Amino acid sequence: MTRRTSRVINRARPVARTLACTICFGIAGLVWSTPRFHVHRLRKAATCTTCASHRRMRAGVIYVVALLLLAGASARPLEALSPEIPCGSRITRDGEIEQEPRLRISPPPVWNAARHVLVAPISGVGLLAGRALGMEPCSRPPMLVMFWPPPRTSAGGTMLGDVFVAWMPGSPASSQAYGIGNEGTYIRYGPNIAQRRIKERQLSVHESRHVNQWAVTNFLAGPAAFPVAYAVDGVLFPGSRNHFERAAGLSDGGYPPAPDNWPAPLWPQTAALALLVLIILRRRIRWLARIVVAGRSQLKAHAPRHCPVHTRGWSAVRASRH
Ligand SMILES: [Zn+2]
Ligand SMILES: [Zn+2]
Repeated sequence: MTRRTSRVINRARPVARTLACTICFGIAGLVWSTPRFHVHRLRKAATCTTCASHRRMRAGVIYVVALLLLAGASARPLEALSPEIPCGSRITRDGEIEQEPRLRISPPPVWNAARHVLVAPISGVGLLAGRALGMEPCSRPPMLVMFWPPPRTSAGGTMLGDVFVAWMPGSPASSQAYGIGNEGTYIRYGPNIAQRRIKERQLSVHESRHVNQWAVTNFLAGPAAFPVAYAVDGVLFPGSRNHFERAAGLSDGGYPPAPDNWPAPLWPQTAALALLVLIILRRRIRWLARIVVAGRSQLKAHAPRHCPVHTRGWSAVRASRH
């Protein structure tokens, strides 16, 4: 490598790092990648072999995820530019498309544009994942719906940003009930999750509110923030108690009313979640135990070439300088 190339790489590295952290973790990632925190991590990696290997691993994962999200961020606007068949269009045997009256869901235009941009990376991932599963897109502004073309049916799905991936398979009976598939003269294009159009409108309003939740959490802490927050909330406040579902409108989303607003933890999942937190924090707990048992000297005491957190043992460690 010439000196010039290595100089270019060295200049580009902080930019790439900041970009990758921000696309993965939003504002939190941007703050995390600032020199202040970066230098702190470099210092730790220089004195602790475990911190150093964690740093390498983390960087690898962040760059791979960032590349995937960048692919999504370019796929989503490309899809929006290509002509889309509106969901619920009737396509006759000879290929004629007859459009049902459009459902009008109109969030304020500026916010609508902003949230499309904010969720573009994860939306694009939903789009690409849907395509990989053999799905087709139809448009139901302000979102895009990925669904399996008939005779496969969908009984529900998940919002990924502003893309609804209708991945939950429906039964053949539901295909009759919901009118999907060949209705004699035409097929109805798109997933027929809702039986009636008024219900379809309510569902769209509900999902549109989920897009707001995606946009805000994505901005704050990246595309994993919403699913994680939703899942944790859903363990402590399951079903109709879930705060995100309540905010999106329970009846619009087809949820029964919540009996009350109190937590009703799903205990096996709560135990699993607690165990996960313990596993993640196990080294810090070990460090804390040493401090509690052997006093403040343990705050900075560490084994050679390890930081206090990555120093093994539950009983006092003799202070050592690396
Ligand atoms: Zn360490
Ligand atoms: Zn919902």
